[in-house]
Amino acid sequence: MNSVNPLENVQMILKKSCEVLDLDESVYNLLKEPERTIEINIPVKMDNGKFRIFKGYRSQHCDVMGPYKGGIRFHQSVNGDEVKALSIWMSLKCSATHLPFGGGKGGIIVDVNELSENELEKLSRGYVKELYKYIGDRFDIPAPDVNTNEKIMAWMLDEYIKLTGNNTLATFTGKALGFGGSFGRKEATGVGVAVMTRESLIKLGINIRDSKIAIQGFGNVGSNTAKHLARMGGNILAVSEFDNEHGVYTIYNENGFNVFELIDYFSKNHTLYDFKGSKHISIDQFYSLDVDVLIPCALENSITEEEAQKIRAKLIVEGANGPVNYLADRILSQKNIEVIPDILANSGGVIASYYEWVQNISGIDMTEDDVLNKVEYKMLLAYNEIMKIKDKYDVTMRLASYIYSVLRLYKILKLRSRI
Ligand code: NAD
Repeated sequence: MNSVNPLENVQMILKKSCEVLDLDESVYNLLKEPERTIEINIPVKMDNGKFRIFKGYRSQHCDVMGPYKGGIRFHQSVNGDEVKALSIWMSLKCSATHLPFGGGKGGIIVDVNELSENELEKLSRGYVKELYKYIGDRFDIPAPDVNTNEKIMAWMLDEYIKLTGNNTLATFTGKALGFGGSFGRKEATGVGVAVMTRESLIKLGINIRDSKIAIQGFGNVGSNTAKHLARMGGNILAVSEFDNEHGVYTIYNENGFNVFELIDYFSKNHTLYDFKGSKHISIDQFYSLDVDVLIPCALENSITEEEAQKIRAKLIVEGANGPVNYLADRILSQKNIEVIPDILANSGGVIASYYEWVQNISGIDMTEDDVLNKVEYKMLLAYNEIMKIKDKYDVTMRLASYIYSVLRLYKILKLRSRI
């Protein structure tokens, strides 16, 4: 894969947005790196009695709007630059959607498939043991990301409470319902991606009921996006997934899948490889599909220059963080393909996380409708404001979103005399 360093990727667009706004170069120099990145080594006594040391990170980008906020990823490809980039995206995302949070992100280099349940718990607790002094409900609030979930959040929060004696539930979000979690959090990112897809289709003059959609990655974001698009009348024709046995594969049904059956099948089998009524197509065919919308919901850098050349969709909505690198972005823009960027498209997750945090610190309960309606409201507000910027500067949606976020950050930095 012709991949671009994700930090370089975010910095390129950050720089461009500072230039469009004609900001002093100190603003870019401040925002292009996190305020701090902590690197840790976590010793875990494995089931065979031997110790293994895992490397982990926490990056804290900018707290000018409020406590740092961002997920923790468990993946073999985690690295310092990736974590830094993800924390910058979180600052931009929180700024775009008017949340009182700054950007944070964490990760551990690990292949979770190699660990037993017992080892996974020790690793999760070990992460908190190394970092508990640097997180907290008013300082840095982690959440799940790729390969982490509410069970891992429960272990981490339990460890945090044990180590600090601070019996608050608000230090982590993405928790289980019985342990301070919020209705709607699991669905929120997918709901937001679906809402952004619906709005963008309207702008393109395409009726969602006639739309043909391809999705990459069918985890939390991909499957919930598919579910809500199906509810809105959208047709999911292709899903690309990955499993250890088959690697990356794509299933296709020219008449559109029954998404609810897909979700059920995936939750039982952890793969879609043998899903009935589907045929397999190559990854090249997947990217070249004659669809209206392509929604990448796996990892960053999945769409490079090579894939961008093949894409025929009219619209790309970034469910994942950083799936389209800046080189691919240029090609898509030349081909007049609209890209709804990650910092807007997948912000539903952090918006719902914010309301989980609000419930934890205030003691007020919200229903699923309360949370998801607020997610939709905040995202539509941001979408409409960003559309105005797009028209004003005649730029892509990505650059418009960055300009909007950077301008808000800049104004607060100025007010607080930080720049
Ligand atoms: P997940 O682990 O639940 O799902 C990811 C899915 O992608 C998995 O099913 C995996 O098998 C699949 N996958 C991995 N590599 C693939 C490949 N090369 N081709 C096709 N499929 C592949 O993770 P998630 O929570 O859905 O997150 C996905 C992306 O969305 C990440 O970039 C994450 O940072 C971003 N994101 C997640 C949330 C959230 O609320 N979960 C919020 C905002 C952004």
